[in-house]
Amino acid sequence: MIFKKGLGVSAGYSKAKAFVLRDSHIEIGHDLASDVDSEIGKLDAAIVESVRQIERLKEESARRIGEKNIEIFDAHLMMIDDDTFKDRIRSLIRDDRMNAIWAVDSAKNEFRETFEAIEDEYMRARAADICDISDRIIRNLAGVKDADMSLISEPSVIIAHDLAPSDTARIGNAPIIGFAIEAGSRTSHSAIMAAAMQIPAVVALGDGFVSEVSDGDTVLLDGSDGIVTVNPDDAALREFCAKKEKHDNEQKRLASFIGKSGATKDGKRIMIEGNIGTPRNADKVLSNGGEGIGLFRTEFLFMDKSSLPAEDEQFEAYKEVVEKFNGKPVIIRTLDIGGDKNVPAMGLPKEENPFLGYRAIRICLDRPDFFKVQARALLRTSAFGNLKVMFPMISSLEEVLSAKRIFEEAKQELRENGIKFNEKLPIGIMIEIPVAAVNAMTLGRHVDFFSIGTNDLIQYSCAVDRVNEKVSGLYKPLHPGVLGLIRMVGEAAKANGIECGVCGEMGGSRGMSAILVGLGVTNLSMSASKILATKEFLSKLTFEECRKIADDMVMASSSEENEKYFEELLRKTLQFDFA
Ligand code: PEP
Ligand code: MG
Repeated sequence: MIFKKGLGVSAGYSKAKAFVLRDSHIEIGHDLASDVDSEIGKLDAAIVESVRQIERLKEESARRIGEKNIEIFDAHLMMIDDDTFKDRIRSLIRDDRMNAIWAVDSAKNEFRETFEAIEDEYMRARAADICDISDRIIRNLAGVKDADMSLISEPSVIIAHDLAPSDTARIGNAPIIGFAIEAGSRTSHSAIMAAAMQIPAVVALGDGFVSEVSDGDTVLLDGSDGIVTVNPDDAALREFCAKKEKHDNEQKRLASFIGKSGATKDGKRIMIEGNIGTPRNADKVLSNGGEGIGLFRTEFLFMDKSSLPAEDEQFEAYKEVVEKFNGKPVIIRTLDIGGDKNVPAMGLPKEENPFLGYRAIRICLDRPDFFKVQARALLRTSAFGNLKVMFPMISSLEEVLSAKRIFEEAKQELRENGIKFNEKLPIGIMIEIPVAAVNAMTLGRHVDFFSIGTNDLIQYSCAVDRVNEKVSGLYKPLHPGVLGLIRMVGEAAKANGIECGVCGEMGGSRGMSAILVGLGVTNLSMSASKILATKEFLSKLTFEECRKIADDMVMASSSEENEKYFEELLRKTLQFDFA
């Protein structure tokens, strides 16, 4: 039996077989080929095997998610069949005497560079495809198992070093009922997506864990306390079942809040909404009593694709969500690529400091052609429900005005084509950069609402990379300075007569919701799984009590003082539930 403690980032309990994704990094050896014909024979066999795998993936995906989502596999099959690519690999083996793995890797780099240098965006994005198929051929040459998650056919828990957000975007297509990873943090996007999908997840298990687990081992995943048990003994299994039963009972008790509106004990109305990454997640928000969508992270629609989704495809996805919400507010955020969210189809170069670099609205303003496609899709959606749009990573008024100008141009194009949209579509901004918080009074005059992205606001104000485990101890949501910034935003929203939401993870931490309300926040948006507990927690405190808690915490002299205060608040407020 293996027992490991990490960080529980998505509550709940799963018992299933392990599906281990081993680090598929393969050392590229530079030994010369001693037998050229044998290397070419190995190459041909690896190509045949790769084609077989892609065809299988295509069939599986068509069965699970429908024909329209399988174009990536057709693109890969076409490229792997291309003689120019294959002939280049063969010539590197024959003429330069490279071994087969080395030759595929060299051809991959040559073709990737050629694609990356092309002006045309579609062609540039083919670089990601060439890397993908080359890596598959290399894996087959090296005898490394294809770890594609879409091949999983029975309920499984994923065990891996790390999962990229694009991996989690694919999880909904396979019967994956949890994951346990060595890396990660509470606000990494893999963790956030797990909570949106309501599957238990444990992160930060530390290096070495993956090597201790084998495919098919029995895994008990406790996403509430952050515990993973592999091949449990009877006692561990009994303890797990008891905890699961308690959790299930708590969920049943909380179900009484599904139809209730979010409010403090004395009736101060606070909207409790859900965060989603794909339309698939929207049903979970509704079934958990969400009063709207406070954040739709649209970049997840762009991640597992070989080309950028066209205007119509985006429109269909956005419309599906606003129609599901049937008049309830839906806030869709324009693309927030960058940081830990890569969109391979964009072919963006790697950066030294991705969270401080070419990200989100910066990319959109730099590429208005591309931004306008999303703007048109969103405007068209506005004719079908209660849509609001917001821009991420705003640091200045100029950015707000430029982004709004692009929306105005898109509106004009739609008018000229007689296409319906809401002329008064509310436009808001995310406050997640400290200068925007300090400048909120001015920004508030130009927008219809604020939504505070605490994940980034904390990262930027504490200068702590949100996905770097080594410094996670310095990431302090309860730092009096962070709370002071949030208060400034709350006050600026009130003075400008606009709503002030929070859509970062802090909003869904039930105790912290009370502090945020006391700081002037009017809307809280969170993963579906946290909605009911937050409604319940707020219903136990009056608005005045929330104000007092917030005042005390802003005035505190350290995060540690606030952390103790917070523990006491949880204990006092929830004592009846723990009894
Ligand atoms: C945030 O920064 O708090 C936020 C909600 O956006 P994201 O986590 O997608 O960066
Ligand atoms: Mg953010």
